[in-house]
Amino acid sequence: MPRPVEALIHTEALAHNLRRARAAAPEARVWAVVKANAYGHGIERAFPGLRGADGFALLDLLEAERVRALGWRGPVLLLEGCFEARDLEACSRLNLWHTVHHEAQIDMLAAHKTHAPHHVFLKMNSGMNRLGFAPGAYRSAWLRLSGLTQVEDITLMTHLSDADGPRGIAHQLAAFEQATHDLPGDRTLANSAAALRFAPQDLTLRADWVRPGIMVYGSSPDFPAASIKDWGLQPTMSLRASIIATQDLRAGDTVGYGSRFTATQDMRIGVLACGYADGYPRAVSADTPVLVGGVRTRIVGRVSMDMITVDLTPVPAANLGSVATLWGRCPDGMVLSIDEIAQSANTVGYELMCALAQRVPARAE
Ligand SMILES: *Cc1c(COP(=O)(O)O)cnc(C)c1O
Repeated sequence: MPRPVEALIHTEALAHNLRRARAAAPEARVWAVVKANAYGHGIERAFPGLRGADGFALLDLLEAERVRALGWRGPVLLLEGCFEARDLEACSRLNLWHTVHHEAQIDMLAAHKTHAPHHVFLKMNSGMNRLGFAPGAYRSAWLRLSGLTQVEDITLMTHLSDADGPRGIAHQLAAFEQATHDLPGDRTLANSAAALRFAPQDLTLRADWVRPGIMVYGSSPDFPAASIKDWGLQPTMSLRASIIATQDLRAGDTVGYGSRFTATQDMRIGVLACGYADGYPRAVSADTPVLVGGVRTRIVGRVSMDMITVDLTPVPAANLGSVATLWGRCPDGMVLSIDEIAQSANTVGYELMCALAQRVPARAE
Protein backbone atom coordinates (compact mmCIF):
# COMPACT_ATOMS: atom_id res chain seq x y z
CA MET A 1 0.00 0.00 0.00
CA PRO A 2 1.34 3.44 -0.80
CA ARG A 3 1.95 5.76 2.11
CA PRO A 4 -1.48 7.12 3.10
CA VAL A 5 -1.12 10.76 2.08
CA GLU A 6 -2.76 12.35 -0.94
CA ALA A 7 -3.77 15.61 -2.55
CA LEU A 8 -7.20 15.88 -4.10
CA ILE A 9 -7.85 18.44 -6.79
CA HIS A 10 -11.50 19.46 -6.86
CA THR A 11 -12.60 19.94 -10.46
CA GLU A 12 -16.00 21.38 -9.62
CA ALA A 13 -14.47 23.88 -7.18
CA LEU A 14 -12.06 25.12 -9.87
CA ALA A 15 -15.00 25.65 -12.21
CA HIS A 16 -16.94 27.40 -9.45
CA ASN A 17 -14.06 29.76 -8.63
CA LEU A 18 -13.55 30.55 -12.29
CA ARG A 19 -17.22 31.47 -12.55
CA ARG A 20 -16.71 33.67 -9.50
CA ALA A 21 -13.90 35.50 -11.35
CA ARG A 22 -16.16 35.96 -14.32
CA ALA A 23 -18.92 37.33 -12.13
CA ALA A 24 -16.50 39.95 -10.74
CA ALA A 25 -15.79 41.20 -14.26
CA PRO A 26 -18.71 40.09 -16.42
CA GLU A 27 -17.70 42.14 -19.46
CA ALA A 28 -14.13 40.85 -19.51
CA ARG A 29 -12.54 37.75 -20.91
CA VAL A 30 -10.77 35.62 -18.31
CA TRP A 31 -7.25 34.28 -18.38
CA ALA A 32 -6.94 31.34 -16.05
CA VAL A 33 -3.40 31.79 -14.75
CA VAL A 34 -1.83 28.32 -14.69
CA LYS A 35 1.83 29.20 -14.13
CA ALA A 36 3.84 27.09 -11.67
CA ASN A 37 2.03 23.95 -12.81
CA ALA A 38 -1.36 25.52 -12.08
CA TYR A 39 -0.21 26.76 -8.68
CA GLY A 40 0.91 23.26 -7.75
CA HIS A 41 -2.37 21.59 -8.77
CA GLY A 42 -0.94 20.10 -11.98
CA ILE A 43 -1.95 21.61 -15.32
CA GLU A 44 -3.45 18.36 -16.58
CA ARG A 45 -5.41 17.82 -13.36
CA ALA A 46 -6.68 21.41 -13.23
CA PHE A 47 -7.56 21.71 -16.90
CA PRO A 48 -10.97 19.96 -16.81
CA GLY A 49 -12.12 22.45 -14.16
CA LEU A 50 -10.73 25.44 -16.02
CA ARG A 51 -11.71 24.74 -19.59
CA GLY A 52 -14.39 27.43 -19.34
CA ALA A 53 -11.65 30.09 -19.34
CA ASP A 54 -11.05 32.27 -22.39
CA GLY A 55 -7.34 31.58 -22.29
CA PHE A 56 -4.47 30.20 -20.23
CA ALA A 57 -1.66 32.40 -18.95
CA LEU A 58 1.68 30.98 -17.84
CA LEU A 59 5.42 31.59 -18.01
CA ASP A 60 7.08 28.50 -19.28
CA LEU A 61 7.21 27.19 -22.84
CA LEU A 62 7.07 23.60 -21.63
CA GLU A 63 3.88 24.39 -19.75
CA ALA A 64 2.47 26.08 -22.86
CA GLU A 65 3.18 22.91 -24.80
CA ARG A 66 1.34 20.90 -22.17
CA VAL A 67 -1.71 23.15 -22.52
CA ARG A 68 -1.65 22.68 -26.30
CA ALA A 69 -1.20 18.92 -25.85
CA LEU A 70 -4.47 18.90 -23.89
CA GLY A 71 -6.17 20.03 -27.07
CA TRP A 72 -6.62 23.69 -26.11
CA ARG A 73 -6.75 25.71 -29.33
CA GLY A 74 -7.63 29.08 -27.79
CA PRO A 75 -5.35 31.82 -26.47
CA VAL A 76 -2.23 30.98 -24.47
CA LEU A 77 -0.18 33.86 -23.06
CA LEU A 78 3.43 33.85 -21.90
CA LEU A 79 3.41 36.30 -18.99
CA GLU A 80 7.16 36.97 -19.07
CA GLY A 81 7.45 36.75 -22.83
CA CYS A 82 10.40 35.26 -24.65
CA PHE A 83 13.78 34.77 -23.04
CA GLU A 84 15.73 34.12 -26.22
CA ALA A 85 15.20 34.40 -29.96
CA ARG A 86 14.32 30.75 -30.52
CA ASP A 87 11.40 31.03 -28.09
CA LEU A 88 9.75 33.07 -30.84
CA GLU A 89 9.86 30.01 -33.09
CA ALA A 90 7.84 28.15 -30.48
CA CYS A 91 5.40 31.07 -30.28
CA SER A 92 4.90 30.90 -34.04
CA ARG A 93 4.60 27.11 -34.04
CA LEU A 94 2.20 26.87 -31.07
CA ASN A 95 0.41 30.15 -31.70
CA LEU A 96 1.33 31.63 -28.32
CA TRP A 97 0.72 35.22 -27.41
CA HIS A 98 3.60 36.74 -25.52
CA THR A 99 4.40 39.64 -23.27
CA VAL A 100 6.91 42.25 -24.36
CA HIS A 101 8.38 44.06 -21.38
CA HIS A 102 11.88 44.94 -22.57
CA GLU A 103 13.55 46.55 -25.59
CA ALA A 104 15.61 43.41 -26.26
CA GLN A 105 12.39 41.47 -26.86
CA ILE A 106 11.40 43.95 -29.56
CA ASP A 107 14.82 43.50 -31.17
CA MET A 108 14.27 39.72 -31.23
CA LEU A 109 10.83 40.16 -32.78
CA ALA A 110 12.20 42.51 -35.43
CA ALA A 111 14.68 39.80 -36.44
CA HIS A 112 12.12 36.97 -36.31
CA LYS A 113 10.92 35.39 -39.55
CA THR A 114 7.31 34.29 -39.47
CA HIS A 115 4.32 34.00 -41.78
CA ALA A 116 1.89 34.39 -38.91
CA PRO A 117 2.19 37.79 -37.21
CA HIS A 118 2.11 37.69 -33.42
CA HIS A 119 -0.29 38.96 -30.79
CA VAL A 120 1.80 40.65 -28.14
CA PHE A 121 1.02 42.08 -24.70
CA LEU A 122 3.01 45.25 -24.12
CA LYS A 123 3.75 45.59 -20.45
CA MET A 124 4.05 48.85 -18.60
CA ASN A 125 5.92 49.24 -15.35
CA SER A 126 3.33 51.39 -13.61
CA GLY A 127 5.10 51.25 -10.25
CA MET A 128 5.90 47.66 -9.33
CA ASN A 129 9.39 47.91 -10.77
CA ARG A 130 9.84 44.34 -11.87
CA LEU A 131 8.90 44.07 -15.55
CA GLY A 132 7.81 46.60 -18.12
CA PHE A 133 8.48 49.86 -19.88
CA ALA A 134 8.32 53.01 -17.79
CA PRO A 135 5.28 55.16 -18.58
CA GLY A 136 7.52 57.66 -20.39
CA ALA A 137 9.00 54.96 -22.65
CA TYR A 138 5.76 53.09 -23.26
CA ARG A 139 4.53 55.02 -26.28
CA SER A 140 7.77 54.68 -28.22
CA ALA A 141 7.82 50.93 -27.51
CA TRP A 142 4.23 50.74 -28.76
CA LEU A 143 5.12 52.71 -31.91
CA ARG A 144 8.10 50.52 -32.60
CA LEU A 145 6.09 47.31 -32.16
CA SER A 146 3.22 48.53 -34.29
CA GLY A 147 5.67 49.21 -37.11
CA LEU A 148 6.82 45.56 -37.23
CA THR A 149 5.35 43.21 -39.82
CA GLN A 150 5.84 40.43 -37.22
CA VAL A 151 3.19 42.01 -34.98
CA GLU A 152 -0.51 42.14 -35.73
CA ASP A 153 -2.08 43.02 -32.41
CA ILE A 154 -0.93 44.80 -29.25
CA THR A 155 -2.75 44.50 -25.93
CA LEU A 156 -1.85 47.02 -23.23
CA MET A 157 -0.90 45.46 -19.93
CA THR A 158 0.27 46.28 -16.45
CA HIS A 159 0.51 44.42 -13.13
CA LEU A 160 -0.61 45.73 -9.73
CA SER A 161 1.56 45.51 -6.64
CA ASP A 162 -0.92 46.47 -3.91
CA ALA A 163 -4.36 45.31 -5.01
CA ASP A 164 -4.53 43.16 -1.85
CA GLY A 165 -3.39 45.78 0.66
CA PRO A 166 -3.85 49.24 2.10
CA ARG A 167 -1.92 51.19 -0.54
CA GLY A 168 -4.35 50.14 -3.23
CA ILE A 169 -4.13 50.68 -6.94
CA ALA A 170 -5.02 54.31 -7.67
CA HIS A 171 -1.41 55.42 -8.24
CA GLN A 172 -0.79 52.65 -10.77
CA LEU A 173 -4.11 53.15 -12.53
CA ALA A 174 -3.31 56.85 -12.93
CA ALA A 175 0.13 56.12 -14.43
CA PHE A 176 -1.33 53.54 -16.81
CA GLU A 177 -4.25 55.73 -17.82
CA GLN A 178 -2.10 58.76 -18.48
CA ALA A 179 0.31 56.91 -20.76
CA THR A 180 -2.29 54.84 -22.65
CA HIS A 181 -5.51 56.86 -22.91
CA ASP A 182 -5.11 57.57 -26.61
CA LEU A 183 -3.58 54.22 -27.62
CA PRO A 184 -5.81 51.66 -29.30
CA GLY A 185 -5.97 48.02 -28.26
CA ASP A 186 -7.36 45.82 -25.51
CA ARG A 187 -6.27 46.31 -21.93
CA THR A 188 -5.49 43.95 -19.05
CA LEU A 189 -4.73 44.99 -15.49
CA ALA A 190 -6.48 42.89 -12.85
CA ASN A 191 -5.09 39.97 -10.86
CA SER A 192 -7.33 38.16 -8.35
CA ALA A 193 -7.18 40.83 -5.66
CA ALA A 194 -8.01 43.60 -8.12
CA ALA A 195 -10.79 41.57 -9.72
CA LEU A 196 -12.43 40.86 -6.37
CA ARG A 197 -11.79 44.12 -4.55
CA PHE A 198 -11.90 46.75 -7.29
CA ALA A 199 -13.37 45.46 -10.53
CA PRO A 200 -17.00 45.71 -9.37
CA GLN A 201 -16.70 49.50 -9.04
CA ASP A 202 -13.95 50.24 -11.59
CA LEU A 203 -14.55 49.84 -15.30
CA THR A 204 -10.85 50.12 -16.19
CA LEU A 205 -10.13 46.93 -14.27
CA ARG A 206 -12.79 44.89 -15.93
CA ALA A 207 -11.81 46.09 -19.37
CA ASP A 208 -11.13 43.36 -21.91
CA TRP A 209 -9.12 40.77 -19.95
CA VAL A 210 -8.70 39.88 -16.28
CA ARG A 211 -5.95 37.54 -15.02
CA PRO A 212 -7.10 35.67 -11.92
CA GLY A 213 -4.75 33.13 -10.40
CA ILE A 214 -4.95 32.55 -6.67
CA MET A 215 -8.71 33.02 -6.38
CA VAL A 216 -9.27 30.27 -8.91
CA TYR A 217 -7.32 27.94 -6.61
CA GLY A 218 -9.49 28.69 -3.60
CA SER A 219 -7.24 30.98 -1.61
CA SER A 220 -8.18 34.51 -0.66
CA PRO A 221 -5.80 37.14 -2.10
CA ASP A 222 -6.32 39.40 0.91
CA PHE A 223 -6.61 36.97 3.82
CA PRO A 224 -7.14 37.65 6.72
CA ALA A 225 -9.01 40.83 5.76
CA ALA A 226 -11.34 38.58 3.77
CA SER A 227 -11.57 34.78 3.74
CA ILE A 228 -12.51 32.45 0.89
CA LYS A 229 -15.93 32.23 2.53
CA ASP A 230 -16.30 36.00 2.35
CA TRP A 231 -15.35 35.92 -1.35
CA GLY A 232 -17.54 32.94 -2.17
CA LEU A 233 -14.60 30.72 -3.15
CA GLN A 234 -14.16 27.00 -2.59
CA PRO A 235 -10.98 25.06 -1.80
CA THR A 236 -9.56 23.32 -4.87
CA MET A 237 -6.77 21.33 -3.20
CA SER A 238 -7.18 19.10 -0.17
CA LEU A 239 -4.15 17.61 1.50
CA ARG A 240 -5.16 14.51 3.42
CA ALA A 241 -3.26 11.89 5.42
CA SER A 242 -4.22 8.98 7.61
CA ILE A 243 -3.38 8.25 11.20
CA ILE A 244 -0.62 5.62 11.18
CA ALA A 245 -0.09 5.44 14.95
CA THR A 246 -1.57 6.70 18.19
CA GLN A 247 0.09 7.36 21.55
CA ASP A 248 -1.43 7.67 25.01
CA LEU A 249 0.38 10.41 26.87
CA ARG A 250 0.57 11.01 30.61
CA ALA A 251 0.73 14.50 32.00
CA GLY A 252 4.33 15.68 31.60
CA ASP A 253 5.11 13.58 28.53
CA THR A 254 6.56 15.44 25.57
CA VAL A 255 6.09 15.02 21.84
CA GLY A 256 8.51 15.01 18.95
CA TYR A 257 11.81 16.73 18.18
CA GLY A 258 12.89 19.32 20.68
CA SER A 259 10.05 18.26 23.03
CA ARG A 260 8.17 21.28 21.80
CA PHE A 261 4.90 20.08 23.31
CA THR A 262 4.33 18.88 26.87
CA ALA A 263 1.05 17.25 27.84
CA THR A 264 -0.59 18.99 30.78
CA GLN A 265 -2.95 16.06 31.36
CA ASP A 266 -3.43 12.53 30.11
CA MET A 267 -4.34 12.61 26.42
CA ARG A 268 -4.24 10.67 23.18
CA ILE A 269 -2.45 11.87 20.06
CA GLY A 270 -2.41 10.63 16.48
CA VAL A 271 0.53 10.47 14.10
CA LEU A 272 -0.22 11.49 10.49
CA ALA A 273 1.65 10.29 7.41
CA CYS A 274 2.50 13.80 6.27
CA GLY A 275 5.43 16.08 7.01
CA TYR A 276 7.45 18.91 5.58
CA ALA A 277 8.83 16.66 2.83
CA ASP A 278 5.23 16.48 1.59
CA GLY A 279 4.93 20.24 1.46
CA TYR A 280 3.36 20.92 4.83
CA PRO A 281 5.27 23.88 6.31
CA ARG A 282 7.52 23.14 9.24
CA ALA A 283 7.23 26.77 10.30
CA VAL A 284 3.63 26.56 11.57
CA SER A 285 3.03 27.92 15.03
CA ALA A 286 1.81 25.79 17.92
CA ASP A 287 -1.85 24.72 17.91
CA THR A 288 -2.29 25.03 14.12
CA PRO A 289 -5.69 23.62 13.18
CA VAL A 290 -6.22 20.26 11.46
CA LEU A 291 -9.42 18.37 10.71
CA VAL A 292 -9.70 14.76 11.88
CA GLY A 293 -12.86 12.91 10.96
CA GLY A 294 -14.72 16.18 10.51
CA VAL A 295 -13.60 17.60 13.86
CA ARG A 296 -11.33 20.57 14.16
CA THR A 297 -8.36 19.80 16.38
CA ARG A 298 -4.74 20.97 16.51
CA ILE A 299 -1.18 20.02 15.79
CA VAL A 300 0.99 19.28 18.82
CA GLY A 301 4.79 19.20 18.69
CA ARG A 302 7.04 19.90 15.74
CA VAL A 303 6.23 19.06 12.17
CA SER A 304 8.89 16.58 11.12
CA MET A 305 9.95 15.40 7.67
CA ASP A 306 7.43 12.59 7.35
CA MET A 307 5.04 12.95 10.29
CA ILE A 308 2.76 15.35 12.09
CA THR A 309 1.31 14.72 15.54
CA VAL A 310 -2.21 15.84 16.38
CA ASP A 311 -4.33 16.09 19.51
CA LEU A 312 -7.10 13.48 19.45
CA THR A 313 -8.78 14.69 22.66
CA PRO A 314 -11.77 16.18 20.80
CA VAL A 315 -12.05 13.13 18.48
CA PRO A 316 -12.25 10.04 20.70
CA ALA A 317 -13.54 7.96 17.78
CA ALA A 318 -10.39 8.59 15.72
CA ASN A 319 -8.09 5.63 15.33
CA LEU A 320 -5.59 3.99 13.00
CA GLY A 321 -6.64 4.75 9.45
CA SER A 322 -8.79 7.77 10.32
CA VAL A 323 -8.36 10.46 7.72
CA ALA A 324 -7.11 13.93 8.58
CA THR A 325 -7.32 16.97 6.33
CA LEU A 326 -4.32 19.26 6.63
CA TRP A 327 -5.95 21.88 4.39
CA GLY A 328 -8.89 21.97 2.05
CA ARG A 329 -12.14 20.08 2.38
CA CYS A 330 -12.57 16.96 4.46
CA PRO A 331 -14.71 14.06 3.17
CA ASP A 332 -17.79 15.27 5.08
CA GLY A 333 -17.51 18.72 3.51
CA MET A 334 -16.02 20.75 6.38
CA VAL A 335 -13.43 23.26 5.19
CA LEU A 336 -10.04 24.27 6.59
CA SER A 337 -8.73 27.01 4.33
CA ILE A 338 -5.14 26.80 3.15
CA ASP A 339 -4.98 30.48 4.10
CA GLU A 340 -5.24 29.62 7.81
CA ILE A 341 -2.28 27.25 7.57
CA ALA A 342 -0.31 29.75 5.51
CA GLN A 343 -0.91 32.49 8.06
CA SER A 344 0.21 30.17 10.83
CA ALA A 345 3.46 29.60 8.89
CA ASN A 346 3.92 33.31 8.18
CA THR A 347 3.36 32.89 4.47
CA VAL A 348 0.59 32.92 1.88
CA GLY A 349 -1.61 30.24 0.35
CA TYR A 350 0.26 30.65 -2.94
CA GLU A 351 3.49 29.32 -1.46
CA LEU A 352 1.91 26.29 0.19
CA MET A 353 0.01 25.08 -2.85
CA CYS A 354 2.99 25.63 -5.14
CA ALA A 355 5.20 23.68 -2.71
CA LEU A 356 3.07 20.53 -2.64
CA ALA A 357 5.75 17.87 -2.94
CA GLN A 358 6.20 15.54 -5.88
CA ARG A 359 6.01 12.53 -3.61
CA VAL A 360 2.39 13.26 -2.69
CA PRO A 361 0.12 11.39 -5.10
CA ALA A 362 -2.44 13.81 -6.48
CA ARG A 363 -5.66 13.08 -8.30
CA ALA A 364 -8.57 15.10 -9.56
CA GLU A 365 -12.08 14.29 -8.38
C1 LIG B 1 0.70 35.46 -11.38
C2 LIG B 1 0.15 36.58 -12.17
C3 LIG B 1 -1.22 36.90 -12.10
C4 LIG B 1 -2.17 36.21 -11.16
O1 LIG B 1 -2.03 36.77 -9.88
P1 LIG B 1 -2.94 36.26 -8.66
O2 LIG B 1 -2.55 37.15 -7.53
O3 LIG B 1 -2.58 34.84 -8.41
O4 LIG B 1 -4.34 36.43 -9.10
C5 LIG B 1 -1.69 37.91 -12.92
N1 LIG B 1 -0.85 38.57 -13.76
C6 LIG B 1 0.45 38.31 -13.83
C7 LIG B 1 1.32 39.09 -14.75
C8 LIG B 1 1.00 37.31 -13.04
O5 LIG B 1 2.32 37.05 -13.12
